[in-house]
Amino acid sequence: MTLNKGFTPDGCPGPVADGVTMGAGQGFDGVYSFAEANNITIVGGSSRTVGATGGWISGGGHGALSNTLGMGVDNVLQIKAVLPNGTYVTANRCQNQDFFFALRGGGGSTFGVNMEMTTTAHPQTTLQVAYIRLLSADATSVNKFISICVENANNWASDGWGGYIAPGAMSVLASGMIFFTPKLSHSEAVASMKPMTDYVASLGNVVLNNEVDTSPSFYQAYNTYILPNEEKVGLGAAIGSRLIPKEVLATTSGQQSVITAMEQVVNMLAPLTATSEQPDLRALSYGAPFQLLVTAPSSYPNNDTVPASITPAWRDATWHAFAQVTFANDASVATINGAFQTAHNVAKVLEGVAPNSGAYQNEADTFERNPTEAFWGAANYNRLLTLKQQMDPNNVLTCWDCIGWNSADARYGCYPAAPS
Ligand SMILES: Cc1cc2nc3c(=O)[nH]c(=O)nc-3n(C[C@H](O)[C@H](O)[C@H](O)COP(=O)(O)OP(=O)(O)OC[C@H]3O[C@@H](n4cnc5c(N)ncnc54)[C@H](O)[C@@H]3O)c2cc1C
Repeated sequence: MTLNKGFTPDGCPGPVADGVTMGAGQGFDGVYSFAEANNITIVGGSSRTVGATGGWISGGGHGALSNTLGMGVDNVLQIKAVLPNGTYVTANRCQNQDFFFALRGGGGSTFGVNMEMTTTAHPQTTLQVAYIRLLSADATSVNKFISICVENANNWASDGWGGYIAPGAMSVLASGMIFFTPKLSHSEAVASMKPMTDYVASLGNVVLNNEVDTSPSFYQAYNTYILPNEEKVGLGAAIGSRLIPKEVLATTSGQQSVITAMEQVVNMLAPLTATSEQPDLRALSYGAPFQLLVTAPSSYPNNDTVPASITPAWRDATWHAFAQVTFANDASVATINGAFQTAHNVAKVLEGVAPNSGAYQNEADTFERNPTEAFWGAANYNRLLTLKQQMDPNNVLTCWDCIGWNSADARYGCYPAAPS
């Protein structure tokens, strides 16, 4: 990786921003430690092992700082990639703009093989951190936790808070939230979080953490609060998700529909009891089965001269609601099919509260019923499909439900029929 102060993309008349250029093999662990060593901030995801320049950026890329600093795709200054016809191209806002549009949201394994990316290097920033966790199986406290999150969702988004909420509801799992904001002072952050911290304080001895702290950099906050331990690997997961719009969270009736859906989802996931085929995600500390990812670009001005191709639903969303049903790598076909059925059912419940929204293609129901609309929206999809047909008419690069995907392609014959 190299830091380029005043980076000028190829073909542009002058510098556009400070940038970090990295090869396609770079994971977020390397990216974040490089940023810390150079006193800069780079927008990235929650996992150390996800690649910054591969699937993450191709699908959109969200992170705890996306509220204020934008999605991964908003931060890209340049991508170099090999096209399906073997040409090596440099795409940015000054040249190959069609390709630059497609590579930032068109999906992995579709338009080219990314070799190198330059992303924006923001200054290192002090963050306020809300770190709240309670260990309670009591439905009343979990439902109250959820309703405080729902009622305050849009206010918190306006205050720049981004991060992760995990409503618990099961005895071994803490309900909790890890939020960061660069927008507020410490006293403003304490005031912003008061509805939640006051409630949690009233719960007494089930409370594990109920604090608003200050952290000098994203990397230090990341290591302390998001991933203090080694990441766990080795489980499969079926996912169901939906982008929950600001508009739905703005009205009392919308909030109630979200609360009802959340309770339904938590109950759908709760009956899972641990088996060797479906180990208990929670006891293994793999994360929570249901999370509200507060990673939409709520405070980010969307005035890109070459907009990205992610679904516009990201721009209107406050939450990316996300459920995962895990299974062991050697689980039976029946268990795996059951996991995908549950995830599909969850996605349908979440879609019910936001039928006109979309879903994040990198973390969505594999059997999403309307992938073109959900992952890109009609306008982006049509432009992406035209580009794909021009650039890769034989589908040299292809994957499930991607742009240009052909359901009759024999390579997808091993997929089971879609769940009902
Ligand atoms: C533990 C975990 C945490 C996650 N957290 C987040 C998060 O915080 N934010 C978020 O936005 N997403 C998150 N994701 C989802 C993540 O963005 C996707 O799984 C993404 O596809 C991973 O990309 P990868 O390149 O690391 O993986 P891979 O499995 O290697 O690739 C995924 C897809 O991209 C293609 N691809 C890979 N490299 C390239 C390349 N160089 N050029 C073109 N195509 C390529 C592959 O062919 C494949 O289709 C998370 C996933 C996991 C497993």
